[in-house]
Amino acid sequence: KPMIQLKNVTKVYDNGTVGLNKINLDIKKGDFVVIVGLSGAGKSTLMRSINRLHDITEGDIVINGESITNARGKALRLIRRNIGMIFQSFNLVKRSSVLRNVLTGRVAYYPTWKSTFNLFSKEDKQKAYEALQRVDMADKVYSRADELSGGQQQRVAIARVLTQNPKIILADEPTASLDPKTSRRVMHDLKMLNEEFGMTVVANLHSIELAREFGKRIIGIRAGEVVYDGAVENTPQEV
Ligand code: ADP
Ligand code: ADP
Repeated sequence: KPMIQLKNVTKVYDNGTVGLNKINLDIKKGDFVVIVGLSGAGKSTLMRSINRLHDITEGDIVINGESITNARGKALRLIRRNIGMIFQSFNLVKRSSVLRNVLTGRVAYYPTWKSTFNLFSKEDKQKAYEALQRVDMADKVYSRADELSGGQQQRVAIARVLTQNPKIILADEPTASLDPKTSRRVMHDLKMLNEEFGMTVVANLHSIELAREFGKRIIGIRAGEVVYDGAVENTPQEV
């Protein structure tokens, strides 16, 4: 069974704009899918629909066998625990340390929010440290998040998502604010999550070059519709 399934999904915004138009997609476990398309094509709408950050207008979205379309409350939280998010703007707590950012990300999915640093167990801290080692950020554990470069912040966000151990990673324009070299480094770390931890990755990218280099499957969207879906080798020059 697919990890993510979209069945005839349409999203019409309140003002009448069609964000997605009858999208059908099956994304299998362990895939690395890159979504490409021009600004306004519907990439973010697709991401927000999969994580149910908004209601869809028609159709159904199934995550790891569970429909998320009408899920609320506890059921929704349980489904969302399968999904880790990576954002364009990193979404770290700027004035907190790197270690603390990774630790609080880990508990954010659980009902009891541990508000005091000392309440984190030695084991939690060890796991956070190991995740930071995986992205080469272990020497920055006590740096404040806002002292880091953009690429470093994104790698901390990747360590944070790694400790959450989700089945799916949704990365919404993870490299949009980064230069090409740093972007490749961040994509390399997402690839690590995919290959070494078996996480299913869905990433929106502006750059077709990065999409070809890192994607196993490329989905092109235009005006809310899938216009290309296939292997990297046959990707058209433009979508
Ligand atoms: P991007 O193209 O990088 O995805 P946008 O500039 O399209 O970003 O959107 C930024 C934010 O503005 C999003 O949260 C989106 O929901 C919102 N937005 C985009 N277009 C509209 C619109 N026509 N009306 C209201 N909100 C919009
Ligand atoms: P992309 O991420 O590919 O840039 P979006 O998914 O942000 O595209 O937007 C798809 C379409 O939906 C665009 O026409 C955009 O203006 C519109 N849109 C996005 N968010 C909103 C919103 N909150 N309200 C109204 N229209 C929106």
